[in-house]
Amino acid sequence: MRLFDTHCHLDEPAFDGDRDAVIERARAAGVVAMLTIGTTAASSEKSVELAKRHRDVFAAVGVQPNYVAEEKLGEWERIVALAGDERVVAIGETGLDRYWDYTPFEAQIEAFDRHLDLSRTSGKPFIVHCRDAEADIVAQLRNAAAAGPLRGVMHSFAGDPATAEACLELGLYISFAGMVTFKRNDALRAVAKAVPLDRLLIETDAPYLAPMPHRGKRNEPAFVAHTATVLANVHGLPTDELAERATINARTLFAIDSLSR
Ligand SMILES: [Zn+2]
Repeated sequence: MRLFDTHCHLDEPAFDGDRDAVIERARAAGVVAMLTIGTTAASSEKSVELAKRHRDVFAAVGVQPNYVAEEKLGEWERIVALAGDERVVAIGETGLDRYWDYTPFEAQIEAFDRHLDLSRTSGKPFIVHCRDAEADIVAQLRNAAAAGPLRGVMHSFAGDPATAEACLELGLYISFAGMVTFKRNDALRAVAKAVPLDRLLIETDAPYLAPMPHRGKRNEPAFVAHTATVLANVHGLPTDELAERATINARTLFAIDSLSR
């Protein structure tokens, strides 16, 4: 089985004690690639370092919406410089968040636009974080689409069918995380069933929100296999086939020619 964890945060302190073992366990579970996501300039730098150290770890660079208010002078320039690195395959995570109130919403919108612009100029796809801001995200993406086709993914999708449809129409991929495995989440599994197999991605968002049966524990990339199994059941496919398709999708979106180098 070949799995691609398209969204994890391997730089986080939660992994400081056993980061290499976590990566080894992922490999043993069939994870052939991990995309580690920056949330600040410093976290983006750490993510790129990890991607340089491990042939199967790739990096995304950006400022997560909740951290935008903390951005310091010169940090965005560091992100822009990192975006040119060959180990960086995506821009983000970016997006909008109305659940937390760490960054004024206007500042989030401005930062989201900056990331979308960087995605376009760097030629690398963007990764969208969306929390309680579905309509705002779709509106801003529609504006951006006026300048040309979009390349990106809605990460850890938790929206309704209409939002999924709007994002698919805009050309985006949709990625599911551990939430789709939770018992009382038939609604999200119904959304996942409606996502075409050539637009589906899987992720852990580790160390957060571990899938069943690890719910409540620290999440790690090896656990992406559980999410793959649930999505495979939803789509009526064997797990390895669903995993293979999602891996091909990730390689296509992130333009990764060879997973090992
Ligand atoms: Zn994330």
